[in-house]
Amino acid sequence: MLGLSQNELRDYFAELDEKPYRARQLYDAINRRRITVFDAMTDLPKTLRSILGDRTSVTRTRIESVFTSSDGTRRLLLKLGDDSEVESVFMPEAHRDTICISSQVGCPLACSFCMTGVLGLKRNMTAGEIVSQVVITLNQVYGEGVQPPHRTNIVMMGMGEPLLNYDAVMKAVRLLADQGGLGISPRHVTLSTAGVVPRIYDLAKEEVRPRLAISLTAPTDELRNQLFPINRKYPLANLIEACRSYPLGDRERLTFEYVMLDKINDSDLRARELVRLLSPIRSKVNLIPHNPAPELPYASSPMDRIVAFQKILTEAGLPSFIRRPRGRDISAACGQLAARHQAGA
Ligand code: SAH
Repeated sequence: MLGLSQNELRDYFAELDEKPYRARQLYDAINRRRITVFDAMTDLPKTLRSILGDRTSVTRTRIESVFTSSDGTRRLLLKLGDDSEVESVFMPEAHRDTICISSQVGCPLACSFCMTGVLGLKRNMTAGEIVSQVVITLNQVYGEGVQPPHRTNIVMMGMGEPLLNYDAVMKAVRLLADQGGLGISPRHVTLSTAGVVPRIYDLAKEEVRPRLAISLTAPTDELRNQLFPINRKYPLANLIEACRSYPLGDRERLTFEYVMLDKINDSDLRARELVRLLSPIRSKVNLIPHNPAPELPYASSPMDRIVAFQKILTEAGLPSFIRRPRGRDISAACGQLAARHQAGA
C-alpha cells in the first residue's frame, strides 16, 4: 500500500466498498505516521484491518542488517518482497539528516569506479519500494511514527541509475513531497544521474521536480568514455547542452559530482578543462574522494592534490566543496553499495 497515491488508495477502497474517508485514514497512517502494520492502526475498525491484512501489506521491505559507522552513519541492508537486496544509508548531522536511497536493484551502467556497477542490473524498484526506504530508515532511527527532530534530506545516490527508472522515481518524489504524507519538499531531494540525457529533458518539464546532480568525474570524452560506458551513447556535448537548458531557481546551481581518482582525473590540466566545460552553466562542484573497494582498480587522490585541484576551481570562480567520506568503515560510502552482508567484507 505504500507507493499508492491518495487517489489510487481511494479507488482501492471503492472496490472494497469502503468509505473514502477510510482511505484517507489509511493514507495518513502509512505515509504521515509511518505505521507499517495494519493492526497498529487503531483508528480503523478491526474487521477492515483484518481484511487488509489478508489481502495486502503496507510494505514488504524489511531490514536484513544494520551496520553502524564510527561517524554515526548507518547502512541498512534491506530485503524487498522478492528477497532482492538493496541498501540505504542514514547520515546524521547537527541540524538535519540525509538519507541516501537506491532506485534500482543493482545498476546496468557499469561505471568502472563504482561497486554497484560490478553487480549489474537485477531489476527496477517500484515507487513503493523506493519510498519504503525512507519510512523504514526513519522508523529504525527514531521509532515507528516518531517525528524526526529536524529536516530530512533525501539523495538518490544509492544503488542504481534513477533516470533509468524514471516513472517509479518520479512517483516516489511526488509521494515524498506530499504534505499529507512524509512532507519532504522536492527542494530537499537530490537526484543524481550519470547522464541519461533524454530523461534530463523530461525532468526539466516536471511540475514536482527534485534537485539535479550530474556525476561528471571527467571533463573530456576521451577520459569519460573510459570511466562511464554511458558516455559513448550520450557524449559530453549532449550532456552539457541538456544541463545548460535545465531550468534553475533564483539562486540555484546545478551540482556536478567529481570523484577524485588518483592520477586519473586529478591534474591541474583536468581542473582547467573542468572550469571551461562548466563555464556556460550556473554550477557548483562536489569533489568526492574516491571510496576504494578491493574489486575496483582505483585509489583516491591524496588530500593535498584535491585541495590543489579545488584551488584552481576557486580561482576561476567556480564554487566547489570537498565531500567528507561517510561510513567508509562499514562500506556505506558513495560507490561502495553492493549489498554486502558484512561491513567492509
Ligand atoms: N547512478 C547515479 C546515482 C548513483 S552513484 C549516478 O551515477 O549519479 C552516486 C554518486 O556516487 C555518483 O556521483 C558517483 O559518481 C559516486 N561514486 C560512485 N562510485 C564511487 C566511488 N567508488 N567513490 C566515490 N564516489 C563514487
